[in-house]
Amino acid sequence: MAGTAGSTNYPKPWYRKALQCEVFFHYICRPQTKITVEKERVLSGIRPTGQLHLGNYFGAMRNYVRMQDEFNCFFFVADWHALTTLADNKELQSSVHRVIAENIACGLDPEKVCLYVQSDVPEIAELYLYLNMLAYKGELERTATFKEKVRLHPENVNAGLLTYPVLQAADIMIHRATKVPVGKDQEQHLEMARNFAQRFNHRYGETLVEPQAFNYGGELVKILSLDGNGKMSKSENQMNTLYLADDDDMIVKKIKKAKTDGGPAEPYAQKPDFIENLFTLMQLVSGPDTYKKFQDDYNNSSAGNTIIRYGDMKKQLAEDMVQFITPIRQKAADLQNDPAAIGRILKAGKDKARESAAVTIKMVREAVGVTYY
Ligand code: ATP
Ligand code: MG
Repeated sequence: MAGTAGSTNYPKPWYRKALQCEVFFHYICRPQTKITVEKERVLSGIRPTGQLHLGNYFGAMRNYVRMQDEFNCFFFVADWHALTTLADNKELQSSVHRVIAENIACGLDPEKVCLYVQSDVPEIAELYLYLNMLAYKGELERTATFKEKVRLHPENVNAGLLTYPVLQAADIMIHRATKVPVGKDQEQHLEMARNFAQRFNHRYGETLVEPQAFNYGGELVKILSLDGNGKMSKSENQMNTLYLADDDDMIVKKIKKAKTDGGPAEPYAQKPDFIENLFTLMQLVSGPDTYKKFQDDYNNSSAGNTIIRYGDMKKQLAEDMVQFITPIRQKAADLQNDPAAIGRILKAGKDKARESAAVTIKMVREAVGVTYY
C-alpha cells in the first residue's frame, strides 16, 4: 500500500504502532520528505491467438481493470506463448495490436499499468531457462491444458507446449508479482508456478516470490462455450464463443443457437452445465431483475409445467449482450486504426517492464551463482 510519512490516521495507541514502523523513523529524521511504500504487484497476460472473448473478459480483464488503481500492474501480450500453437505468424502483429486495443477498450489505462509484449523482455527467457532445470517432465505431461492440446492437435506436440507452465511461471516471477488475475483454466498453472518458486528458493536461497491466482469474488471464473463443449476460447470452437469484436447480428445468431434442453424435470432442479452457463452470462450482462425473473421461472418449472421459456431467455440475453459488447467493439476498432499510438504505448511499457525484470534477473543470477567477474 502506498503511504506517506505525514499520514495522521495511525491506529491508536499511535506511538506503539509507530515505534515498530519504518515510516515513523523516516518522519522523525526527515519530516519534509514523503516516502512511498511499494504497491503489491499484479501480473496478467493474454496470448495473441485471435479475438478476445467473454471468457477473457470475465476471467481476467475485468479484474485487471478493477485492480489498476490499487496495485502496481503489469499486463503483457504473450506472443512467445502464442508460438506454441500458432501455425502461421502472418497475423501475429495485428493480433498483438488487437489484444492491446481490446484491453484498453475494456478500461485498461496505459498511464496506470505497464502494457508490454513478452518478446520485448529477454530476461523472461533467461528465467524460464533456470526454471526449466527445476521442472520435471512427468508433472509437465500431466498438466490438464497440455493434455487437452495434445488431444486436439496431436500433430503439434512441441517442447514449448510442454514447458508452457514454466514460461508462465517466469512471466509472473520476473516482476515479483503476488497476484495473478486469471480464469479457472489457469489455476493448475499457478500451483505449478508456486512449486517452481519453492524449488528454486530451496535450492538457491530465498529469491523468488510465490504468486496466487486472483479474482475479486474469490471464485475463479470459467465461461463455457455456448454448445457446452469446453470453454470459450480464442483459438477453438469459434462459432460457440462470444467475441468482443462480434457484430450485433453475430451475437444474436450465436446466442439463438446456444444449447438448451426440454426444461427441468422438477422444481429447483440442478442445472446442467450449459444451462448454468446461460444464467452465468445473464447475471454478468443483464440487470438483476431480469436474472431473477428467469431464475424464478426455472425454479418453478417441472415436467409438464415448463414455465421457463429458453427462447425468451436467449432473446433477452442477446439484447443485453449486444448492449454490453457494442461500445467495447467500437472503441477497440478506433484504437486499432492508430497503430502508431499502440506502438508508443508498447515502447513505453517495454522500458518499464525491462527495468523491473532487470532487478529480478540480477538477484536470480547471483542466487544461481552465474556471476564470474
Ligand atoms: P487460446 O485458446 O489461444 O489458449 P484463450 O481463450 O484460452 O486462448 P488465453 O490467452 O489462453 O485465452 O488466456 C487469457 C486469460 O483469459 C487467462 O487469464 C485465462 O484464464 C482467461 N480465460 C480464457 N478462457 C476463459 C474462459 N472461457 N473463462 C474464463 N477465463 C478464461
Ligand atoms: Mg488458453
